[in-house]
Amino acid sequence: MAKIYYDKDADLGIIRKKKVAIVGYGSQGHAHALNLKDSGVDVRVGLHSSSKSIAKAKAAGLEVSPVAEASAWADVIMVLIPDTSQAKIYNEAIASNLSAGKTLMFAHGFNIRFKTIEPRADVDVSMVAPKGPGHRVRETFEANGGVPALIAVHQNASGKAKELALSYAAGLGATRAGVLETTFAEETETDLFGEQAVLCGGASELVKAGFQTLVDAGYQPEIAYFECLHELKLIVDLMYRGGLNYMRYSVSDTAEYGDYVSGPRVINPETRATMKKILAEIQDGTFAKNWIEENATGRKSFEGTRQKERDQKLEVVGAELRSMMPFLDPVTIKPGD
Ligand code: NDP
Ligand code: MG
Ligand code: MG
Repeated sequence: MAKIYYDKDADLGIIRKKKVAIVGYGSQGHAHALNLKDSGVDVRVGLHSSSKSIAKAKAAGLEVSPVAEASAWADVIMVLIPDTSQAKIYNEAIASNLSAGKTLMFAHGFNIRFKTIEPRADVDVSMVAPKGPGHRVRETFEANGGVPALIAVHQNASGKAKELALSYAAGLGATRAGVLETTFAEETETDLFGEQAVLCGGASELVKAGFQTLVDAGYQPEIAYFECLHELKLIVDLMYRGGLNYMRYSVSDTAEYGDYVSGPRVINPETRATMKKILAEIQDGTFAKNWIEENATGRKSFEGTRQKERDQKLEVVGAELRSMMPFLDPVTIKPGD
């Protein structure tokens, strides 16, 4: 069994004695800055001068400085800007303000794992990676809960990198839920695999393929939407509470029989072999190389696919149906979002 750390295993006093710069004020950035501040930590937010987030961070009562200044001031620098921008900002504004004894932190191992950031040897490098979206990290903290997190140490110059990471995780509220120890490699590779094969890529294509199959066969798109997308949440909620066993206990025996006979035909040996290939391309750096290159060359293919996906029939039908269900708190993504 993995070792799991809780409040009693962490010393909040360690991070309370440090000056912490949170670089970026987006999904994770706002949650880390505000949770740490509420935990009694001396926090400053680092943002570029034209950042749209400056006003938001100031309105929340936080001190804001340029990234270089915040990094020079801080003992602990947590990098919370998009993964593909981190190396550039690190080189421009953080690296020269890292001195012996400081701690550089991440919420995802991408840039360390794929060596786009290679910090000097006399600093600690660690990770606190919440296993949930930033807004949940803030909301659950405010409700006296927490989102679980992974911690990892890449460089331990001080000999105390893990204690500090645990203390940071406590300030974030993560030790209320449970903190697991991992490595930068394991966190990065499993995170990328999960989002590609199952959570984002796998689930999206499964929904699209199911919807398309029904619509092509002449069924009403609205029914196909409810069947293949809307109902998925109800099924996942059952899995979330009680695993596949509870889902299968709750659905009809007919649905359970269909699950057993048809599931393995959808996710078949070929799909499993493809999953292995996807994992291998994550491990050997092919995926990272392609994604970094896509960003460096203007994201044409990414933006093109994004537009096509946003305009598909499933989305048009779904937006209409969701607008009739205000209790869902429907959200519409507009161009530019
Ligand atoms: P966001 O996209 O929400 O970060 C946005 C912030 O970064 C804004 O303050 C934005 O400034 C700033 N920013 C964007 N681009 C640049 C740039 N080129 N230079 C300087 N600042 C920039 O990031 P996330 O919170 O999603 O991700 C941060 C880290 O956390 C990543 O390593 C990610 O993998 C990790 N993570 C994210 C999770 C999530 O819930 N999203 C979950 C777990 C880990 P501006 O205001 O000007 O736009
Ligand atoms: Mg991820
Ligand atoms: Mg049914």
